[in-house]
Amino acid sequence: MIIAIDGPSGTGKSTTAREVARKLNFTFFDTGAMYRSAAWWIVQQGINPDDERKVVDSIHTFVYEIQTQDEQQRRYFVGGVDVTQAIRSHEISTIASKIAVYGQLRRELVKIQREFGKKANAVFEGRDMGTVVFPEAEVKVFLTASSSVRAQRRYRELLVKFPDLAQSLSEEQILKDIEERDHKDSTRAISPLKKAPDATLIDTSELTVDEVVDQILVLIRQKKKSCPSMRVTYGFVYWVARLWLKLFYRLQIEGLSHFRAGSAIIAANHASNLDPPIVSISCPCEVHFLAKESLFHIPILGRLIRHLNSHPVSREATDVATFRLIIGLLQSGQKVIVFPEGRRTSDGKIQLIERGLPFLMMKAKCPIQPVYIQGAFEIWPRTRRFPKLFGRIRCVFGSPIEWDEFEGLGKKIAEQRIMSRMTEALCKLQKWTESGAHGTPP
Ligand code: C5P
Repeated sequence: MIIAIDGPSGTGKSTTAREVARKLNFTFFDTGAMYRSAAWWIVQQGINPDDERKVVDSIHTFVYEIQTQDEQQRRYFVGGVDVTQAIRSHEISTIASKIAVYGQLRRELVKIQREFGKKANAVFEGRDMGTVVFPEAEVKVFLTASSSVRAQRRYRELLVKFPDLAQSLSEEQILKDIEERDHKDSTRAISPLKKAPDATLIDTSELTVDEVVDQILVLIRQKKKSCPSMRVTYGFVYWVARLWLKLFYRLQIEGLSHFRAGSAIIAANHASNLDPPIVSISCPCEVHFLAKESLFHIPILGRLIRHLNSHPVSREATDVATFRLIIGLLQSGQKVIVFPEGRRTSDGKIQLIERGLPFLMMKAKCPIQPVYIQGAFEIWPRTRRFPKLFGRIRCVFGSPIEWDEFEGLGKKIAEQRIMSRMTEALCKLQKWTESGAHGTPP
């Protein structure tokens, strides 16, 4: 398992990552120390850090070693020289940040980092762990904190660990240095410091290290147990319905690697009355959905959906009541299936997304999990009274659309963007599904 912790300096990344690794008995890898060690090596070779070609060439002779007999006192070596203290100097910080913009150098260091990642369960900390080095990391965290808090922390850390160094620096100098490096790290073209869309943001300004560590451990626990077990009645109906869909409609489910614990709006295209049971039994944990009250009167289907956490919506129900019900479920951490096109398609094609979806996302501030269903229209279109007995269905989960993509935008712009992101996601999934592809959908 890989845990990726990213963020600017002074957010408590190293201390937090080391502590998380200790508690889980994982390996800890500070990639900042690696960039610093590379900077030390370049200085040692007498190379001008502005000379990209020479810097990149010198990285082929960079021999990096970490000694970890004592986890709290790990030591870094370059070509056999202990650089643990030397790499913390102001000069090395600046050079590390300067050379970190060179693409070829990063590729070389990333290779080494990935090799380490293959060997053991590990906590990696840096700037691009969740975005570039380990985009498939099981848990991703992005730490932030105000720059003044970060400068204070850096100063105190230096005082304790490297008092000689600390005496030569002031807190203001450290603040200036941090802000300059942040700017350089976040504006560089290659692997800029950036939160991965699926990373959890934690502002550590007001938190102790223990509190941050606890939050991360909760995320890891949730991930390990990404789906709470189903209740017995739900589980029974789930497996019966699954068997029925598999036997009669050869149901294929794709993209479950995109499925995550926690609240989400599961938004699917809508072609048939079969869609709610198809999506709910394709999800590996309990989900909720709304269904027209009349469906509850259909033999078998009515019983099935009642046990599958469906909530009847009568014709008289107002939109306000329906939205309130869905928002309540989402806010209590549930997953809710919705059909954002509003009604079933009459020709099998994807339709326009209605404004209800952005409204729900903006209120519940949770991700949307796009889903594309193929084959249900052919089996039970609007024009048929009953479904065909046999057919073929695929239910494809796409990568989640995260709320933080739209956070801070004006209401109208956010609404438009969410609708177009959803349309784009459905079209991509449709194209992927129709191409007959297998594996991880877009
Ligand atoms: O984390 P730390 O402050 O020790 O990192 C030193 C510098 O190394 C950063 O300012 C950044 O420029 C660079 N770095 C990076 N990518 C990483 C880790 C560090 O570019 N994964």
